[in-house]
Amino acid sequence: MAYDTAILFRDDSYLRETEGTVLAINARGGILTDRTVFYATSGGQPGDTGVFVRADGSIISIAVTVTGESKDEIIHVPASGQVVPAVGEKLILRIDWGRRFKLMRMHAACHLLSVVCPYPITGAAVGEDDSRVDFDLPDAGVTKEGVTAKLMELVQANHPIFTRWITDEQLAANPGLIKSKNVRPPAGTGRIRLVCIGENASVDSQPCGGTHVATTGEVGAVHIGKIEKKGKENRRFRIRFGPLPEGE
Ligand SMILES: [Zn+2]
Repeated sequence: MAYDTAILFRDDSYLRETEGTVLAINARGGILTDRTVFYATSGGQPGDTGVFVRADGSIISIAVTVTGESKDEIIHVPASGQVVPAVGEKLILRIDWGRRFKLMRMHAACHLLSVVCPYPITGAAVGEDDSRVDFDLPDAGVTKEGVTAKLMELVQANHPIFTRWITDEQLAANPGLIKSKNVRPPAGTGRIRLVCIGENASVDSQPCGGTHVATTGEVGAVHIGKIEKKGKENRRFRIRFGPLPEGE
């Protein structure tokens, strides 16, 4: 059975909480609600953690959020030993905003890295403190100092970051939008969410369902911690917060 959940983070990634009603508890104890601000693990970005607040003020801790049979089915997985809410119960759904904001900054930084390094992407994982992007890039020829400097130019330019929806046909007509070598954005749903950077997407646009900050300036100071060789044709770039440490 499919559940119809209003997915609020797609249009406003800055929402920290919402009221919601429990639609169902699945066989594994996961909670489905009629609306949510909790991002579910996908596209290399981990799902949100947080709490559900009940009418009496007591709290149900949410350990992770995942998708079900489709990306529109969002399942909030409680930590062990939590009280199970009743179907129909009204709750306040509140994410761990400190963690999410770091993930939004990091996720946007990964997009900026794909602008600085315009090579096919073979993998990516966004983390709170350390993210990685793997590129199909046989010869390094790039340094962490050089890439960090170009990343920070984009951060300091404070470009807007926004989303735009296009049709499957528009995506098919613009294959250059897809930067992932192995991962295809889901086609067949009729519409694709593009994440755009710069006025009129002048800096970048690519299909992505994740959450990002609204300007590149909010990414703040980041640096390339490491460029690792992963096989003959792959380079793994690690992004970390803060300025590039001196003397490394
Ligand atoms: Zn993204």
